[in-house]
Amino acid sequence: KLSTRLQTVANFVDPGARIADIGSDHAYLPVHLAKKDLIEFAIAGEVVKGPHENATTEISEQGLRNLIDSRLGDGLAVIRPDDHIDTVVIAGMGGTLIAQILETGKQKLDNVTTLILQPNVGENRVRNWLMTNHYIITEEQILKEDHHIYEIIVAKKTNKTFSYSKKQLLFGPELLNKLPNPIFKEKWEAELARERIAIHQMEQAKQIPQERINKLNLKTSLIKEVLHIED
Ligand code: SAM
Repeated sequence: KLSTRLQTVANFVDPGARIADIGSDHAYLPVHLAKKDLIEFAIAGEVVKGPHENATTEISEQGLRNLIDSRLGDGLAVIRPDDHIDTVVIAGMGGTLIAQILETGKQKLDNVTTLILQPNVGENRVRNWLMTNHYIITEEQILKEDHHIYEIIVAKKTNKTFSYSKKQLLFGPELLNKLPNPIFKEKWEAELARERIAIHQMEQAKQIPQERINKLNLKTSLIKEVLHIED
């Protein structure tokens, strides 16, 4: 059985998709989808040997070598044109790394229609990359499991011109559309508390550039605005 986090990611995969799960580790996600007959083909990509071996073993043990290919390689480099991948999943890493993987492998995305991304932190980095590269965010979800709060971002390639505000990049355009949400509130209340401490410490310390403090102040005012908190 998948974790709630990975199950929620799985729910966003269209039936019959051809997916590349980048940073697949044990390949739990593609194995689950293949067993439920929900995908046509999958690549389980891994850059590290240990996790790559985990994936290979799991796929063999589940008798799914005809549907899932375990490949060792960096990011999107494991995708070949004749794989006809239409969906890329990148889950369980920081947003900066996810954005980096997408940026480095850009040319592999030509025929990919859907990106399903689950950054553990730094979601705004991911949204920024998506906006810059003409992927519009179609769905977002926030969930809590084992004391962690996770966000999932689904994006589709578009020819339309659009842009996101600072607020949308930080909180998620689709998450903002679905407020109020108790998990969203919990996440940003905790973040606000951390920011307040950080600002206080910066103000106490000497030689912190005012610009950095201003940036944090801007972020706290955005959080307060979204949570309807008055000073
Ligand atoms: N995707 C699974 C999940 O969400 O449960 C596993 C997440 S695991 C924490 C992150 C995995 O990403 C690690 O196994 C790591 O080796 C892999 N990884 C990190 N950078 C990568 C890259 N550039 N290309 C492929 N895999 C990468």
